[in-house]
Amino acid sequence: MGSCNPVTGGAGRCTICGAPPVIRMREPDRHLCAAHLIEDVEGRALRTISERELVKPHDRIAVAFSGGKDSTALLVILSRLLPSWDGVSLVAITVDEGIAGYRDDTIRAAEGVTKKLGIEHVCVSFADLIGENLDTLLAGRETQACSVCGILRRKALSVAAHQAGATKIATGHNLDDEAQSVLMNTLRGDLPRLVRTSDADSLDCFIPRIKPLADIAEKEIAAYLFVQDLFPFLPECPYTRYALRREVRSMLSSLEQKHPGTMRNLIRSKRAIEKQVDRREISESLRRCRQCGDPCSGELCQVCMLRKSLGK
Ligand code: SF4
Ligand code: ZN
Repeated sequence: MGSCNPVTGGAGRCTICGAPPVIRMREPDRHLCAAHLIEDVEGRALRTISERELVKPHDRIAVAFSGGKDSTALLVILSRLLPSWDGVSLVAITVDEGIAGYRDDTIRAAEGVTKKLGIEHVCVSFADLIGENLDTLLAGRETQACSVCGILRRKALSVAAHQAGATKIATGHNLDDEAQSVLMNTLRGDLPRLVRTSDADSLDCFIPRIKPLADIAEKEIAAYLFVQDLFPFLPECPYTRYALRREVRSMLSSLEQKHPGTMRNLIRSKRAIEKQVDRREISESLRRCRQCGDPCSGELCQVCMLRKSLGK
């Protein structure tokens, strides 16, 4: 998201109350004012949580909190839902990859938000995990930034969530992210990952991951934050330019604009494929890494393979 105002307004009146609208929503097509946008977004997150039974009484939820817009919206929504859940607690976890000129600002923003919401906040860094920051690890191999970063971030988050006693890890993946992942995994020919990304597929040996915002579009999240003065205007990661996701994101947004419903259709296709796949075949191939004991599909987990390739 750039620095433009995500609130688009539009013609007409709020479909519910007739007040001036701040956004036009699709499926179903309607205009919403700020108050009804907030109600709609929070209501849909709660519906996703209830329908998929993502939160159980006494869960301790570790929220992957980068300080960016998706995780900020997630933390705000979960903190508002918290009083209605029996014995549930939240802890926000921020991973510091060690990216100069980028991460310090987002960590400061993350600290501000958790303080305001009164939520426990834990920071974990790649330097703690592997002894070096991302910038140093990537010297001369910047094009691999996002895959190296993704592997280490996942591990750092699991370790910190485990240490915090979490029973669930909540991530801010939205509808656009989900559609992008379907297309990216398809483009890579990675069927196991294509069918393993849904929250219904949490494996016993991992802390289950949940995605309460999976049904909410990126622009709806941006507008939800903007109308409450919570939108974080932060710099973009300097490695984004190497990311396949960036190209897929721009392609899908333009398709969605021309053909509304494209992203939801992609996700529907993924669900249809999931039903056809024998999931046992994928689960049975999971083993333990011979180096660290973490669950993996080969001899070594991705982190240990990465360590080996980096000579760590
Ligand atoms: Fe990591 Fe890539 Fe995201 Fe930057 S853009 S934080 S390198 S995954
Ligand atoms: Zn390992």
